[in-house]
Amino acid sequence: MKKFYKAVILISLLILLLPLEIALSQQSKTTDAEITEIVQKITPQLIEIRRDIHMHPELGFEVERTAGIVAKYLKEFGLEVKTNVGKTGVIGILKGGKPGDVVGFRGDMDALPITEKTGLPYASKVKIAFDGRETGLMHACGHDVHTTVLLGIAQVLAKMREELPGTVVFYAQPAEEIGDGAYAMIEDGALENPSPSAVFAYHVASDFNTGQIGLCSGYALANVDGFHAVIHGKGGHGSQPHKTIDPIVIASRIVLALQTLVAREIDVAEHTVISVGSFHAGTASNIIPPDAAIRETIRTYGEEQRKLVKEKIIRTIKGICQSAGAPEPEIEYFFGIPSLYNNPELAEKMMPTVIRTLGEPKLLLKAKPSMGGEDFCYFTQKKPSVMFWLGCTKEGDPYYPAHSPHFNPDEKCIPHGVKVMSAILLDYLKMREEKK
Ligand SMILES: [Zn+2]
Ligand SMILES: [Zn+2]
Repeated sequence: MKKFYKAVILISLLILLLPLEIALSQQSKTTDAEITEIVQKITPQLIEIRRDIHMHPELGFEVERTAGIVAKYLKEFGLEVKTNVGKTGVIGILKGGKPGDVVGFRGDMDALPITEKTGLPYASKVKIAFDGRETGLMHACGHDVHTTVLLGIAQVLAKMREELPGTVVFYAQPAEEIGDGAYAMIEDGALENPSPSAVFAYHVASDFNTGQIGLCSGYALANVDGFHAVIHGKGGHGSQPHKTIDPIVIASRIVLALQTLVAREIDVAEHTVISVGSFHAGTASNIIPPDAAIRETIRTYGEEQRKLVKEKIIRTIKGICQSAGAPEPEIEYFFGIPSLYNNPELAEKMMPTVIRTLGEPKLLLKAKPSMGGEDFCYFTQKKPSVMFWLGCTKEGDPYYPAHSPHFNPDEKCIPHGVKVMSAILLDYLKMREEKK
C-alpha cells in the first residue's frame, strides 16, 4: 500500500509540476531561439521578395517600385510608414511594447547600370538609356538583399513587439550608388522624430562566406574625392618642341609626381590612394597639342587628411606647370562622399551579441579598411553607427565581387543577416534600458 501511495503522490506531483515545467521551458526559450523560429518561417517569403526586387532593379532616386514594395510590407507588419523622404526614401517606425530608446537600421534600394550575366532564372532583363547608350540594369551591389534584410528584420521585430523596449526606425534609402541618397534622407529630417541614438547597416561582401560577418572598427571606407585638371601649354609642330610648351610632358610629370607625393609626403599610417583614371591629349603624332586633361580619384580617411592631400595636390600641379613656363592650369577639385567611420565603442558593445548569434567566435572576422566609398557615411557622421559586412559567398562557389555582372550573392545570407541584426537591435535597446 505504501508503494501505491508513493506512486500516487509522485504522479500527482508530476501532474502539478508539468504546467510549471512547460512555463519554465517557455521562459528559458531564449530570444535568439524565438528569432530563429520566426526567421525560418518567413524565409521563403523573403526569398520571393528578393527575387522580385532583383528582377525589377531601379536606378538612383527612381526607385518608386521598390519603395512601394517596402512601404506596403512595412504597413502590413504594423509599422508607421513615411514615404518620399529624401525624394523616394521610406521610413518605417516600429514602436515596441515597452518604453525605451530609439535605434535605426538602414538598407539601400538602388541598382547599377550593368547588364546582368548571372544566367539566373530571375536575372534582370531591364534595359535603360544611360549616358546616351543602352545598358542593362542590375542589382550588382546586393542592395536587393539589403532591402529584403530590412523587411525581414522589421517583420521579426514586429512579431516580437511586446518585448521590444523602445523604437526601431528602418531607413530604406535610394541613390546610394550615386552617393546622394543618405544625405537627401537626412536633410529631409530622417534622423529626427524619432531620433535614433545609434544606426546599424549591412553591406553584402563576397570576401566572406555565408554565415560569416566582417567588421572593421573605426574608418572602414574612404573619402571619395577627385579632381579634373586641364593643363594648358602651347601647341606646335612635333619636330620643334622648343617652340612649344608641351602639355603632355607636363601632365605626365604631374601623374608621376602625385605618386611620389603619396610615397614621400604622406605618413604611411594615413592610407592615401591617388589614381589617374583618365588622361586625354592630342590628335596626331606630329602635333604637340595645346592642352592635356587628367582626371583622378583620391581616397583618404577623415576630414583633416582629405584637406591636407588637396593642398599638396594643388601645390604640385601648379608648381610643375610654373616650372615648365606653362599658363595657370584649370583645376576643379571636389570632395565627394566622406569616409565611413564605424564607431569603435558601439561595435565593441555589440560584439557579444554578434558572437552569440553567430554561434562561433571565428565566424566574426576582422575586416581590413577599404578605400571604396559608401554613403552610409552620412549616418555615421550624425550618429554612432556601425556597418557590418554580411558574408554572401557560398563556400566553393566562384568569387565575383560587387559591381560585377556575375555578382550572385548566396541567398542564405538573407535569413542569416536578419537573425543577427534582429538580435543586435533588440539587445541594443535592452542595454540602453539596463543602463538607466
Ligand atoms: Zn555599389
Ligand atoms: Zn552597395
